[in-house]
Amino acid sequence: MHPTSIEKTPSFSDLSLDEQLLSAVKKMGFEQPTPVQLKAIPLALEHKDLLVSAETGSGKTAAFLLPTLQKLLVSASRKSGTRALVLTPTRELAQQIFKHCQQLTEFTDLQTGLITGGDDFRLQQNMLRRNTEIVIATPGRVLELMEQEIPDFSNLDVLILDEADRMLDMGFSEDVLNIASHCNAQRQTLLFSATLTHFGVIKMADKVLKEHDIVALNTLHDGHRNIEQQFVLADDNDHKLKLLTWLLKNETYDKALVFANSRIQATQLQGPLRGQKLRVGVLHGEMDQKERNRMMTLFREGEIKIMVATDLAARGLDIKGINLVINFDVPRNGINYIHRIGRTGRVDELGLTIALVKHTEWNLMSGIERFLKQKFKHRTIKELEGKYKGPKKQKTSGKATGGKLKTEPKKEAAEKVKIRDRDKKNIGKRRVPSVKPVIETNQS
Ligand code: AMP
Repeated sequence: MHPTSIEKTPSFSDLSLDEQLLSAVKKMGFEQPTPVQLKAIPLALEHKDLLVSAETGSGKTAAFLLPTLQKLLVSASRKSGTRALVLTPTRELAQQIFKHCQQLTEFTDLQTGLITGGDDFRLQQNMLRRNTEIVIATPGRVLELMEQEIPDFSNLDVLILDEADRMLDMGFSEDVLNIASHCNAQRQTLLFSATLTHFGVIKMADKVLKEHDIVALNTLHDGHRNIEQQFVLADDNDHKLKLLTWLLKNETYDKALVFANSRIQATQLQGPLRGQKLRVGVLHGEMDQKERNRMMTLFREGEIKIMVATDLAARGLDIKGINLVINFDVPRNGINYIHRIGRTGRVDELGLTIALVKHTEWNLMSGIERFLKQKFKHRTIKELEGKYKGPKKQKTSGKATGGKLKTEPKKEAAEKVKIRDRDKKNIGKRRVPSVKPVIETNQS
């Protein structure tokens, strides 16, 4: 790729989704599809069965919900039973998916229901009788309801098995297969798993999927092992400017890239930094190509060591020797963050990325940490310590830990021991998988 060329940024509107869904995606703040969404949505929209490897944090929930909702929106409702069923291993996950689905269906008439153990059986019965289109469930309670012949999956359009590897590890294999055997044989099935190198997953795929495609993605964090990620707390933008200047003067780097969220902010940083005798360039979307090329050449050739840029301007920037990325503004979402830090630590180079975080940006940063399943290192700069020390007390709530409750591992372990025996009878029944690998992408 030519270093100055700008890649076309894929957007949700390229994915042939209904306006109602695009509005919801927009409202949720998703600016562009994640890699798994980009790969899986078009294939799922072609009504293909899919086996997808993607972790929590990759955007997999929307990757299976969006094409499913699209399918439900375009085919007229028959008002006869459930039309999409999502099976997921734990109650917490089911609740998260339920919430996600409610947000995505906000501008539609589609109804979503939740079926998990521990909740009111009768309410769930009633919900199923009302022909709720989308049901998010854990396998155990669905089976209990099936014993009472309540759910009707004979008209199911889409069956989704989320975190299939975990469902297998928790001993739900037989339950899942049992439920699948009661679903409409003509349905589409989407099987999501963190890993494909799990024999049980391949075996399950062999049983529940028809001829299918595979979408394999490396986990997001695997790609960023060579980048150290830090954050520094700041009181306000003036404080940030002091921190930025200090970092640019004291860090060791060949080239540094500073990100701002707006063209105005990027332009405003230039003057004060130059005032500190730092050679700085600016790159933003509204510059003409000639000026842009000139800036890039100066940066590439090391005439200027520091470039202040906006997200759009930095896409496709492939310049050697950028080993420091400073987020003057915390990016608006995880994807932008990945693109920004992707400018450093390329191939075998080591990189350092530092986010300057003021109190209004704390939640944004926590969201990005959750998205990446990573914790950034808190760094303080003694000479410039400010008043803001982060939120008073960081509760280990479901939200702050990426949706997992603190007690979950314990509970899960117990559950695992209790039900592991159920799957023992399957050991040794190895079958040659008839899967057809068509798509494999590596996250760079
Ligand atoms: P998931 O892997 O589905 O658990 O998603 C992890 C987090 O990423 C959730 O908080 C989602 O709301 C968020 N997310 C999903 N897709 C996108 C996207 N395209 N852009 C930004 N955030 C997203």
